[in-house]
Amino acid sequence: MASQELDLFVIGAGSGGVRAARMAAQRGAKVAVAEMSALGGTCVNVGCIPKKLYSYAAHYAEAFEEAHGFGWPVAVPAFDWATLKANRAKEISRLNTVYGAVLEGAGATLLRGRARIVSPHEVEVNGEVHRAKHILVATGGHPLMPEVPGGEHAVSSNEMFDLPVFPKHLVVVGGGYIACEMASIFRGLGAQVTQVVRGSRLLRGFDDDIAAFLAVEMGKKGVDIRLGTHLHGIERRADGSLLAALHDGSALEATTVLYATGRGPNTRGLGLEEAGVALGSSGEVKVDAQYRSSVPSILAVGDVTDRVQLTPVALAEAMVVVDQLFGQGQRRMSYEFIPTAVFTHPNIGTVGLTEAQAREAHGTIRLYQSEFKSLKHTLSGSTERTLMKLVVDDASDRVVGLHMVGAEAGEIVQGFAVAMKAGATKAHFDATIGIHPTAAEEFVTMR
Ligand code: FAD
Ligand code: NDP
Repeated sequence: MASQELDLFVIGAGSGGVRAARMAAQRGAKVAVAEMSALGGTCVNVGCIPKKLYSYAAHYAEAFEEAHGFGWPVAVPAFDWATLKANRAKEISRLNTVYGAVLEGAGATLLRGRARIVSPHEVEVNGEVHRAKHILVATGGHPLMPEVPGGEHAVSSNEMFDLPVFPKHLVVVGGGYIACEMASIFRGLGAQVTQVVRGSRLLRGFDDDIAAFLAVEMGKKGVDIRLGTHLHGIERRADGSLLAALHDGSALEATTVLYATGRGPNTRGLGLEEAGVALGSSGEVKVDAQYRSSVPSILAVGDVTDRVQLTPVALAEAMVVVDQLFGQGQRRMSYEFIPTAVFTHPNIGTVGLTEAQAREAHGTIRLYQSEFKSLKHTLSGSTERTLMKLVVDDASDRVVGLHMVGAEAGEIVQGFAVAMKAGATKAHFDATIGIHPTAAEEFVTMR
């Protein structure tokens, strides 16, 4: 390997790296990929997949309760954390194997170990130097842990899925995706959860109405959301429990304190600056529209570029790189209308502009909003409500924003994202026949 020049050396076998290595190899390129940890990266091991599995687990608690109204007088059984962890670990280990097989099947060489760039065309792994025409940095990111006294007693999302003991009293710091999802999930699994948010709202960047509605719904399910406050220290007491001090002088007792306060790019110790690669203020690799860094042979995709930190975005960026280097030529990835879901209870599903962004971009807009109790909850006894919102550019009639808080919002919004990408107008929505009885039909019946 050391003497043969590769076409592509990929650093990191996560979402972006595996896609790039596999597709490039399938197109006949000579490819090696280095991975220092488990195959599949953040998403498979400590992100999307375990998170969604735990979200399913958390929904059962409500389902047992709601079953009564439908004629199933079942008692809520005790939840077994050890079973969930063991089954998750088994499934993830299966996925790790699948990722290895996918790379091998495509003809890419997998190198296990930490990679370091030693020149614009050379990467070192386990003491061996590999030459490549192109190097793709797909090293992802890591949780940012703010420095507070006693901060070493806190955990990040990386540890949450495998905590030795179920966190009966959980304090979650942060108001973003991970904090809201973890708060919902662990509340659903039976923990007492307090969410400490420094800002005046959850989910900065999401539509104001959606974020406010979610906070109410999460509150109804028992998450104690404290806005406008932060921790200034964590103390471990003699009995092993934690005391999290808030800036207003009060304190929260906890078995676990989770910091979910953003993620930073994995660029340290990679040899990037030494090779001449320009990094941004957060340490991210600065790239152009073709994902080339300031050194043309070194490219980067995914979380390490600190743009949109989502798996499907890393996959799409990897495909632009592969097309450019090995086949179909240059094209530009569009970052417009990227749909996303927050797997809170209830879910958020969203695509396009918030009301505020649409006002700024388009001036005159029309808003359509519907809030209701879903049919299921007429018998379930649950007080959960659903919110749907459409934002329409008045001049063109295009639907430029679509937002939902409610069951299966992620599943529902994916299809609407296709329509919006294709330029759907409110008139198109109005002309679409609903599927009855569903929650999704509200999106085509709002007038
Ligand atoms: P990663 O998947 O992180 O892969 C990077 C890989 O590089 C890792 O395997 C790492 O070990 C390896 N690596 C790093 N440095 C080196 C080195 N020097 N040598 C060798 N290997 C190296 N996104 C969604 O779209 N939907 C979700 O529901 C979702 N949920 C999430 C939940 C959580 C808790 C978290 C943390 C993230 C979630 N994300 C979700 C975000 C998603 O996981 C990331 O955007 C995605 O994994 C980024 O892919 P990537 O290829 O850039 O990096
Ligand atoms: P986010 O950027 O979404 O949220 C970070 C949160 O932490 C914000 O509320 C922020 O507050 C707060 N914060 C930042 N610094 C501090 C501090 N020093 N003290 C207190 N609070 C602080 O990051 P996450 O870690 O939640 O997630 C990282 C990324 O991973 C997401 O942006 C998303 O792209 C991806 N992800 C996607 C998921 C999905 O698709 N379902 C699920 C999970 C993660 P403020 O708003 O005031 O800055």
